[in-house]
Amino acid sequence: MNGVIVVGAGPAGLTAALSLARAAIPVTVLESGNEPPRQPRACTFHPATLDLLDGLGVAAPLVAGGRVVDRVQWRDRLGTVLAEMGMNRLDGLTRHPFRVHADQNALTPLLLRALAVYGDADVRFGARVDGVAEGGTGIRVRVGHTWTRARYLIAADGAQSTVRAALGLPFPRSGHIAQALRVFTDSPLDRLLPSLAPLTYVRDVQQSCTLFGLSDHWRIIFKIPVDGHEPLSQGNLSMLVRRALPGAGGPIRVA
Ligand SMILES: Cc1cc2nc3c(=O)[nH]c(=O)nc-3n(C[C@H](O)[C@H](O)[C@H](O)COP(=O)(O)OP(=O)(O)OC[C@H]3O[C@@H](n4cnc5c(N)ncnc54)[C@H](O)[C@@H]3O)c2cc1C
Repeated sequence: MNGVIVVGAGPAGLTAALSLARAAIPVTVLESGNEPPRQPRACTFHPATLDLLDGLGVAAPLVAGGRVVDRVQWRDRLGTVLAEMGMNRLDGLTRHPFRVHADQNALTPLLLRALAVYGDADVRFGARVDGVAEGGTGIRVRVGHTWTRARYLIAADGAQSTVRAALGLPFPRSGHIAQALRVFTDSPLDRLLPSLAPLTYVRDVQQSCTLFGLSDHWRIIFKIPVDGHEPLSQGNLSMLVRRALPGAGGPIRVA
């Protein structure tokens, strides 16, 4: 019988699997995708997360490949800096008194590489779990026609968890009143907006946004209503960005 089966090779599943492997507990990861997810998603790592990843030996390469955020800024649309906080206020409280901007799809390959060292850790892609049953001294999971037994199961299969549904576990939720619009740009916002911090919250009564500087691009996140927003043509996107950052000293290319 397997020790632990982890369903899902996202950041949660692989971090759990690596923690188990380092504790010499046999672990099998079952991932429905044929390869690690590549879609850009979350992009900011907090000090506590970096400390945790450091304990697993993967923080250093993540920091090296990302952009270190040494200060957080709040400003208005016209460029007035309302407040700024140096991350060094956390000195002595964490081994990483800064945030790191890197896409979460930079983390999963690091976790996979670290896991590959452990002979008792098995990561299977193209393995979609479609059935789960409890019983006896453990749990059984089904991939296609094959059932596999393990003492424990960790469900890390994301927001639409198959495991949760199979076990009939409740998941109360409510709808969002807004959605996030993510705009990517390779324009150097910190040159176009003087003294801009790599993490900046732009506050405005009509259209606030958050600016994330990564090592090779910037992301601008807008909160927009779920219904009633204008169609998102390239022209509309450019106008939204121009209106949100009128103080920019040059054009901002959007993608
Ligand atoms: C477009 C987008 C943008 C986001 N932006 C941000 C952000 O800016 N900031 C932020 O904090 N968070 C953001 N998130 C949320 C963040 O990505 C998630 O919180 C994070 O991915 C959760 O990690 P996880 O490992 O729990 O699950 P996931 O990353 O969802 O991984 C679950 C894995 O399980 C696999 N799986 C699912 N079902 C099965 C099955 N039946 N059998 C086997 N494998 C299965 C999936 O293929 C997937 O690889 C964003 C999410 C999306 C979709």
